[in-house]
Amino acid sequence: MSYVAPLKDMLFNIEHLARIDQVAQMPGFEDAGLETAQAVLEECAKLNQDVIAPLNWEGDKNPSAFANGAVKTTPGFKEAFKQYGEGGWQGLQHPTDFGGQGLPKTIGAACGEMLNSANMSFALCPLLTDGAIEALLTAGSDDLKNIYLEKLISGEWTGTMNLTEPQAGSDLALVRTRAEPLPDGTYKVFGTKIYITYGEHDMADNIVHLVLARVQGAPEGVKGISLFVVPKFMVKADGSLGNRNDVHCVSIEHKMGIKASPTAVLQYGDNGVAIGFLVGEENRGL
Ligand SMILES: Cc1cc2nc3c(=O)[nH]c(=O)nc-3n(C[C@H](O)[C@H](O)[C@H](O)COP(=O)(O)OP(=O)(O)OC[C@H]3O[C@@H](n4cnc5c(N)ncnc54)[C@H](O)[C@@H]3O)c2cc1C
Repeated sequence: MSYVAPLKDMLFNIEHLARIDQVAQMPGFEDAGLETAQAVLEECAKLNQDVIAPLNWEGDKNPSAFANGAVKTTPGFKEAFKQYGEGGWQGLQHPTDFGGQGLPKTIGAACGEMLNSANMSFALCPLLTDGAIEALLTAGSDDLKNIYLEKLISGEWTGTMNLTEPQAGSDLALVRTRAEPLPDGTYKVFGTKIYITYGEHDMADNIVHLVLARVQGAPEGVKGISLFVVPKFMVKADGSLGNRNDVHCVSIEHKMGIKASPTAVLQYGDNGVAIGFLVGEENRGL
């Protein structure tokens, strides 16, 4: 099925309802007026119409598949995601300090709408990565920001959110995944997470899992939950990839829709040590 972005309607909304001229008066957004919005949206429409949308049907015919601990995504997804990252689309609304384009979400939201309409299975990967970027920007230490943000924003690595467990869906007070402190300030993470969107895939060099877990001795309920970064591959001091961390995909869901998006069951700390880095305590407002 083809996709044609409703550019005229989007630009009307951006100009008259979102008042992009006023947004462009805010510090940092001086170059983000209507002309910029139009140029960005036109390019975004081309990418979605010509590259991303044609993969939608392909995703239904050849969904992501799990074998031997790895997920092979739909043919064409890996190449399209590379193009997405290299085109700067992952970084569109993220800070220039970490390699983003620093454009306002008024423009980012329209681009996200195109991506989701063109191919939701594909769009979920950048969406989850946006979430990981924003969580780190909001609550990450300078060290975590420096290690992870540039690679996430460039699309070389992707992000996930790991909330759900077999006994904890809507009610996250029941989260049982636990984190034990290590002398060097890191944590050993143990537990099972289910339904993790793009929890394993072959579209990027590393996957940065953001994981809800309970530190030993923390109070019951949501107040005792903290957030950890658990990378698929450890990151060395020079930024290159190190050892495989002990977070492993054990299966993916067989779904009725969005079949190309791998929804993973992840096992932490079953075969060694899953090293995690504390981001923040969830009850601080995440
Ligand atoms: C395709 C897909 C992708 C997902 N991706 C992720 C992901 O990336 N990361 C992640 O952490 N999770 C993910 N999830 C999990 C999702 O967040 C959970 O499915 C959701 O939180 C609901 O939990 P549950 O499925 O256990 O349902 P339950 O919590 O068991 O709910 C079942 C039903 O009971 C209702 N219900 C629950 N509690 C109450 C209440 N107190 N009052 C009234 N009704 C209630 C619910 O509305 C629902 O209809 C994904 C799920 C799907 C289907």
